[in-house]
Amino acid sequence: MSVRSDALDGLTILREIGMERPWLGYVEPVQILGNLYFVGTSPASSHIIDTGDGLLMIDTGLPQSCYLILDGIYRLGFKPQDLRWIVHSHGHYDHIGSTRALVELTGAQTYISRPDAPIATGEQDLSWATEIGAAFRETFQPDVLIDDGDVFHFGNTTMTCLLTPGHSLGSLTLLWNVEGAGRSLTAGMYGGTGLNTLLADWLTAHGFPLTLRDQFRESLRRAAGLSVDVMIGNHIGHNHMLDKLAQRKADPAADPFVCPGEWQAFLAQAEAALDGLLAEERAESAARS
Ligand SMILES: [Zn+2]
Repeated sequence: MSVRSDALDGLTILREIGMERPWLGYVEPVQILGNLYFVGTSPASSHIIDTGDGLLMIDTGLPQSCYLILDGIYRLGFKPQDLRWIVHSHGHYDHIGSTRALVELTGAQTYISRPDAPIATGEQDLSWATEIGAAFRETFQPDVLIDDGDVFHFGNTTMTCLLTPGHSLGSLTLLWNVEGAGRSLTAGMYGGTGLNTLLADWLTAHGFPLTLRDQFRESLRRAAGLSVDVMIGNHIGHNHMLDKLAQRKADPAADPFVCPGEWQAFLAQAEAALDGLLAEERAESAARS
């Protein structure tokens, strides 16, 4: 069965370049806006925020690409030792894979949602590593377990975390203030829209109820009620990051990362993809009966 969704771009890219060589997805580290920077790869995004009191990282990417993150931090003029906090959008391998190495290198404190914490520790085998032909060996003990509505202060950055289950039980929507952009801006990241973990077969095989799809829809609608000026993706396709960088290069006065409405459009697209998946499953089951 095929699932047509832009939200699957991370997996699609990984399959194309080959799981054993994720560094082929190298992306030059770059300042997105103000104190917000990209240090990830095309299979999985990682961002750093200069809080004025140390670096905050969102997602750590695949373990095989950890050295690219470290290189990106240096290239942007920071040092890995500046890293103080790591927040994870959710507990999948391509978002938590380099965490253990970074913690052991820098002593950074790790934050993950309470429902996804057992994935990080290895108690639950739900990291999606096996599915992409890898093994999650880089387990870690999170320092802080995030609950719905938690607000954290990291230097100049205030981050609000909403639990938006669906893609994983503990996918988070993160909202924070962007500093140094010359005006007041709210950035947002939706923790996961890939339908790979919402397929009936996958849910059933892992003992999850099919109603997780209803929860996913509720989460998307809840997030759509938020006001987001700067949409950040945990995969580069989500916010068309490379296109925006190209636009800005062509016209340095352009401000493509400030795009109110993009957030709602992205979430609506994710809901439409869910509808497509459900319709496809219904058609398949009708064809079988
Ligand atoms: Zn995921």
